[in-house]
Amino acid sequence: MFETMNLSASPKPQMAGGEAEKVKCLIIGSGPAGYTAAIYTARANLNPVMYEGLQPGGQLTTTTEVENFPGYPEGITGPELMEDLKKQAARFGTDIRWGIATATDLSSRPFKVTIDGSKLVEAEVLIIATGATAKYLGLPDEQKYAGGGVSACATCDGFFYRKKDVAVVGGGDTAAEEAVYLSGLCNKVYLIVRRDELRASKVMQERVLKTLNIEVLWKHQTKGLLGDGVVEGAELYKNKGEANEEIVKIKIDGFFLAIGHTPNSEIFKGYLDLDEVGYIKTIPGTSKTNVPGVFACGDVQDPRYKQAITAAGSGCMAAIDAERFLSEND
Ligand code: NDP
Repeated sequence: MFETMNLSASPKPQMAGGEAEKVKCLIIGSGPAGYTAAIYTARANLNPVMYEGLQPGGQLTTTTEVENFPGYPEGITGPELMEDLKKQAARFGTDIRWGIATATDLSSRPFKVTIDGSKLVEAEVLIIATGATAKYLGLPDEQKYAGGGVSACATCDGFFYRKKDVAVVGGGDTAAEEAVYLSGLCNKVYLIVRRDELRASKVMQERVLKTLNIEVLWKHQTKGLLGDGVVEGAELYKNKGEANEEIVKIKIDGFFLAIGHTPNSEIFKGYLDLDEVGYIKTIPGTSKTNVPGVFACGDVQDPRYKQAITAAGSGCMAAIDAERFLSEND
C-alpha cells in the first residue's frame, strides 16, 4: 500500500531556525510502516515522536475494504485499520502530532527536521516512513469516480471486480503484473498501452500476451470514464495525434492505474542514496540507509511489494534497527 504524502511541493526546502525541540526517536509518516515503527519504538522506551504527514494514516485511508491484512478474517476498512494502528501506537506512549516534514539536514547527528516550514526538531535517530504516491493520469474523471471504480492497486481492490470486465493503464512491470493478477479474478482485462510496445520485462510481456482474457489495446490513451456514479465504461483515443485517430469505447466496471509511483523522498535528496526513481536505498535485509542512524521503511524504500503488511514488517525492522543503533552508539 502507499502512503500519500507529497513532500515535493516546495522546490527549495528551507530549514527552520531558532531553538530546536530535542527528541530521541523521530518518525515521519503515519502509514502502516510508521505506526508499526511507533509501536515497537514506544515499547522499547525510545519515546517516539511521530509527525503524521499530509495524509494521516497514509493511502490506506483512501481505500475501502482491506481483506489481505492478516488478523482480520472478516476484512476491515482502510480507515478503521489505520485508526486501530494509531490507537495501538498511542497506547504505548507515541507522541502523535499533526504536521508535515518540509526540510531536513542529515549531515550530522542529531538530525534536523523542519516541520511545517517553521518548527525545528532534532532527533537522535530518524525513521522515515513517508510512503509513495501512485501516479494518476490527471483526468478529472479519476477524481469523479474515486471510490467508484477507479483504483491504483489491483492487489488491494481487484477482488471486488470478480467476474467483471476491467481495464489496467500502463505498460510496465506493475501494469503487467496487475493485469495478470486481475485476469485470474475478472472476466476480461483490457491493458491500455500508450505505445506499440510494453516496457515490462520480457517474462512479464510473455505472460500478458499468452493470457487469453487479457486484451492489449496498443496505442490507446484514456480520454475519460463513463458511468452513472460508478465506472461503467471508458472512452479511449486510438492512435492519438495521427491521421487515423479515432475514439473507441469499452465497457468496464473497474479502471486500474499502474503508471508508476513517486516515492516521497524529495526532502532527503542530497543526504540519502536514492535509486533513479527516488526510492531510498537501504542495505538489503535491513532498514539502514547510507546515513548511520537514519532508517527507512515502507513504500518510500520499496519499489516492489508495496503492501500494507510488508510496510508494517519493514516498520518493525526500522524500530529494531533504531533501538540497536542507539544502544551501540549512545
Ligand atoms: P514504469 O515506470 O516501469 O512503467 C510505467 C508505465 O506506465 C510505462 O509503460 C509508461 O508508458 C506508462 N505510463 C506512464 N505515464 C503514462 C501516462 N500518462 N499515460 C499512459 N501510460 C503511462 O513503472 P512500474 O510501476 O511498472 O515499475 C516501476 C519499477 O518497478 C520498474 O523498474 C519495474 O521493473 C519494477 N517492478 C518490478 C516488479 C518485479 O520485478 N516483480 C514488479 C513491478 C515493478 P511508456 O512505456 O510509454 O513510458
